[in-house]
Amino acid sequence: ALEEDPDQGPTTDFTTSNFTWTANFKRTMRSVFGIERFRFCQQGVCNANMSGRDIVCVMPTGGGKSLTYQLPAILQEGVTLVISPLISLITDQVIHLEEAGVQAIRLTSANTPAENLKGMNRLSALADSTSGSREDDIKLVYVTPEKVVKSPNLKSVLQRLADRNKLERIVIDEAHCVSQMGHDFRPDYAQLHILRQLYPHVPIMAVSATCPPKVLQDLLSILRLRKPVDGDRAPRTGTVYFKSPLYRKNLHYTILPKPASGKELLQSICNFITTKHPNDSGIIYCLSRKDAEEVAAKLQEMSCGIIKTGVYHAERKAWEKEGLHRSWREGKIKVVCATIAFGLGIDKGDVRFVIHHTMSKSVDGFYQESGRAGRDGKDAECILYFQPADFTDLCSLVQRDKEGVGKVMAMLKFAQNLDECRKVQFACYFQHASAVDISQWATDNEDALSRCGHCDNCKRKDGVLKQEITLQVWQLLQIVEAVERSGLQVTFRKLASFATGHKVQFSTNSRRGSERVTGLNLTTICDGRVRGSSSDVEYILGHLLIKEYLVLAFKQTAYQTNVYIRLGEKGRTYTILDQGGVQKQAHLKMYLTLLLPATPSPSLSNTKRKAKAIPSKPSKKARVAADNDSADA
Ligand code: ADP
Ligand code: MG
Repeated sequence: ALEEDPDQGPTTDFTTSNFTWTANFKRTMRSVFGIERFRFCQQGVCNANMSGRDIVCVMPTGGGKSLTYQLPAILQEGVTLVISPLISLITDQVIHLEEAGVQAIRLTSANTPAENLKGMNRLSALADSTSGSREDDIKLVYVTPEKVVKSPNLKSVLQRLADRNKLERIVIDEAHCVSQMGHDFRPDYAQLHILRQLYPHVPIMAVSATCPPKVLQDLLSILRLRKPVDGDRAPRTGTVYFKSPLYRKNLHYTILPKPASGKELLQSICNFITTKHPNDSGIIYCLSRKDAEEVAAKLQEMSCGIIKTGVYHAERKAWEKEGLHRSWREGKIKVVCATIAFGLGIDKGDVRFVIHHTMSKSVDGFYQESGRAGRDGKDAECILYFQPADFTDLCSLVQRDKEGVGKVMAMLKFAQNLDECRKVQFACYFQHASAVDISQWATDNEDALSRCGHCDNCKRKDGVLKQEITLQVWQLLQIVEAVERSGLQVTFRKLASFATGHKVQFSTNSRRGSERVTGLNLTTICDGRVRGSSSDVEYILGHLLIKEYLVLAFKQTAYQTNVYIRLGEKGRTYTILDQGGVQKQAHLKMYLTLLLPATPSPSLSNTKRKAKAIPSKPSKKARVAADNDSADA
């Protein structure tokens, strides 16, 4: 292998193209992968790999992380072990490599025992061989983390390879899965610390699309990546960190108000696909298995079979999943309706749209899921159907996770924000999340905080208006206060519904539980009705939660966690004043950018949308959710 020049001085600039292997990179990249030039930080990562460094590489989904280890793997003599979380992903990769004529194998349960035995024998022979390298030597071996952790045979053959300097490196794909702080924690990944113990001299490369600082710190310590020498600003031996700009120009983000009824929502999705993407591949992310199945069936029905849908979720059988992957790759299925189980490493370039039927549980999740669009670099649309009330449903689901609610809150903030460019919001979110000092690392040249000019918030000329909401805020807080004072409790949906003039049954929070109180005399507060459309009221409630004027209270029942809205400390300041008092105090005034009711959204221009003064009945789903708080009765 080629070494970096020891006289190069105290720092090695991996981003340059004056390494001895540079010409080889170019040639091999073109002949094997048909790729003309590096993008993002690929070249630097390849150079650091050739130099035997430990590496953390964070690059957006579709950025081209695979090339950064596959190319060095092809050029070096030994074997590169790749640990990857999903068998479907491994299969995709191995198929691609085989097609490109690269000697790559997988050792997974997707193989027959005979195939696995053959693979192990080839590796074993390679370990024992004393003659020089041969054409058919294995370059890449793909396995799941469970396999590495649990198979003594594999560990022993790797040991022999490592002892003879034939294990070039170990790559850990989707490395954020090692951390409990990440959103995809996998216990088997946490066991990967054995790699450094067993093969201390083999470089480790951790690869991911999202790696906030806490996750990064976890990753460095769990995987025992090499530490920089103290005081060495650009260490010659420590882990090299690469991070690519996370902004992808070809993705066009739009957040749309989610229609109150499930049927209207489906109609909107159906129109979007049939008019704008009739022959394109896309993904619709749904919150639950049930939603995914329903959306798939209804879209097919509504479009008279024009939209060819498939369903993917964790409970589908392995063969069904494989079948779906295949049909999707071959274009027999165009639109996959899925839970987030569908994702990790989908290697399909021409996904033209990703729709979120319900918002994600975190901004990281949303970024990754929507990032599965447009991996070929061509234009693609990312649409999120947003309804503030979904927030508490999501909170109820994640409430046990340490940082679950905080993450959903960040997602709520992102979705509610109708002013700031989506790119800037992402940048701020991920930057904020990145407390480690990245000053010494190569970062984007591009100005991360300039507006993208092509997301919904950048393109919007009208359709939203900054409005004073002080009065509504006061009214809503008064309602919550009155609810609490009466020993009652209220969910987000019930509160929104009540505030817009609907009859609502409140449940009590006493242990006796079954008492119900109908209505609450609020005529003195707001004539029984808060000014504004139901969508406005939901947005204002969302805003009050973000600002902590309102807070959540969780209540465990035998079946689920109910989420109630309570008055926060900050909210109390309002409730002790009367209406006039609040409106007179400048520091209590509040403003919020709200949607104007009759504006047809850009991608729904041919959908009829009625501006309703009086909100329609809550959807069935909403009613079910609203009834949840009686489950403990
Ligand atoms: P990810 O970072 O999500 O793992 P992949 O490695 O799967 O992304 O790459 C996504 C796609 O980008 C693949 O189709 C790959 O061939 C392509 N690709 C990678 N590097 C380049 C490049 N430098 N130029 C053009 N296409 C590239
Ligand atoms: Mg990948």
